[in-house]
Amino acid sequence: MGHEPPVIAADARRGLTRAQRARRLANLLNLSTPVGLAVARAGGARRRPGPYGLVLAEGYRFRFPVAGAFTVGDVIVTAGTFDALLRRHPGLLVHEERHSRQYALSLGLPYLTLYTLAMAWSVVRTGDRASGNVFERDAGLRAGGYAERPVRPLAASLRAAVARVRLTPPG
Ligand SMILES: [Zn+2]
Repeated sequence: MGHEPPVIAADARRGLTRAQRARRLANLLNLSTPVGLAVARAGGARRRPGPYGLVLAEGYRFRFPVAGAFTVGDVIVTAGTFDALLRRHPGLLVHEERHSRQYALSLGLPYLTLYTLAMAWSVVRTGDRASGNVFERDAGLRAGGYAERPVRPLAASLRAAVARVRLTPPG
C-alpha cells in the first residue's frame, strides 16, 4: 500500500526445499521455534515471514545479546531491521538459516548449551566468540559478519575467556 516491498519479500512457504520443510517441522516439534516466537513477542518485535521458511522479527527492544541478529529455532531476531542488516551482510539469512538447521540437528533447545560451549572454546582459542566456534564456522563466518581471528596460545587468554562466557543465543 504505497510502501516499498521489503528487500527480502520472499516467498514465505512456497518453494521450500525438503530439508527446509523438515527443519521447520523439527523446530516446531522440539519447541525451539515456539520459544523463539515467545522471545520475539516478549521483546515487542514485529514479525514477518522471511526466506527459507524463517520468521523475521524486527525492533526487539531488550538489551541485545549479539551485534546484529540472533536465532532461536526458525525465528531470527534483530533490534533493527533486516533490510538494514542485509545491506551490510547480504549473506546473513543464509547464515542464520544454518543456525536454524543446527537447532533441528541438536533436537532444539539443547543447542543453546552446545553453542555456548562452542563459543567458550572459541573465546579461549581465538579471543572472540565466532572464529573458533564450530557452529559459526559451519554457518559461515563471513556471511555472519564475523572476521576470522587466528588461534592463539591457550595460556594467554584463559582468564579473560572465563569472564566473557555466558549463555548467549547464536547470532
Ligand atoms: Zn552465527
